[in-house]
Amino acid sequence: MQGVILPGQARVEIEEFDRPEPGPGQVLVKMKASGLCGSDLRAIYHEHRGSDPNERYQNVIAGHEPAGRVVAVGPGVSGFAAGDRVVAYHIVGCGHCEECRKGFMIGCHSPGRSAYGWQRNGGHADFLLAEARTLLHLPEELTYADGALVACGFGTAYQGILRADVSGRDRVLVVGLGPVGLGAVMLAASSGAEVIGVDLVPERLELAEKAGAANVLLGGEDASEQILELTGGHGAEVALDCSGSATGRTLCLEAARTWGRVVFLGEGGSVTFEPSPLLLHKQLTLHGSWVCGMHEMGQLLEHLARKGLHPDATVTHAFPLSETKRAYEAFDAGRTGKVVISWEDA
Ligand SMILES: [Zn+2]
Ligand SMILES: [Zn+2]
Repeated sequence: MQGVILPGQARVEIEEFDRPEPGPGQVLVKMKASGLCGSDLRAIYHEHRGSDPNERYQNVIAGHEPAGRVVAVGPGVSGFAAGDRVVAYHIVGCGHCEECRKGFMIGCHSPGRSAYGWQRNGGHADFLLAEARTLLHLPEELTYADGALVACGFGTAYQGILRADVSGRDRVLVVGLGPVGLGAVMLAASSGAEVIGVDLVPERLELAEKAGAANVLLGGEDASEQILELTGGHGAEVALDCSGSATGRTLCLEAARTWGRVVFLGEGGSVTFEPSPLLLHKQLTLHGSWVCGMHEMGQLLEHLARKGLHPDATVTHAFPLSETKRAYEAFDAGRTGKVVISWEDA
């Protein structure tokens, strides 16, 4: 089988690998869709930046957003059989620590923790050797690309929606309309909220409108005032930063309504702000949120299927595995929606 390695310096190498055999507790998945994630660009594609063990890329097959069809199961596996459509939670935890017990394997600190596409072979290959305990059934209503998007980006967005307890009573500001931001727009709108999307890239504003944003605006010096105007002078009840930038994070605090809820979802960077006027005197609740739990991912799949929602509506570019280099170049140019590797023989 073929698989993709990301050696750094924007190189993408396709190599030949033996097709793996599933061992005890393992499942062999024929890949159907594999998403590219912003964290691939941030910490792997240009240079291997991961300094802590969880972010250190170990020159394995890349891709941590896998969805596909089960072709073989190893000894002791129950609940999955050949032919099942599946999506993988992208981290294999120790299974015993407090975070693993909660289903938040992302927070596992055991030396044995590994993530697909970071420390163990991931989804940018014809087959994925998965641990059965990381798999969820992909509902019939959803496409494989929908499943791939849920594996990281939409799962992250959904957890942010849960943390802010978004409902139809809220106006939700989403700052940064990359894949996670577009997910947040779609999920907030499908929860009944009125969504305002902000980004610096005009193409992304259009994608946000398609995803359900009632209002979109270009980021800039007067963004905060424009949001106040759109919300009758009050500000947004909920503000989600998906940009990871200092200006995006500050805008969320500025444009949040008094007693509002703010969630920082965007990775990287840093921010400096005055806590008294922006946080304390506004009585804000500020959450940090990182990916989601296994249970929440299952809940999200059910929500999408029931509401007839398709995360793959945010996909602007799909490439075959042989053109993964072009896929990363397109994604890195910063004007795409979601980019996926897909297998036509689905
Ligand atoms: Zn990711
Ligand atoms: Zn653990």
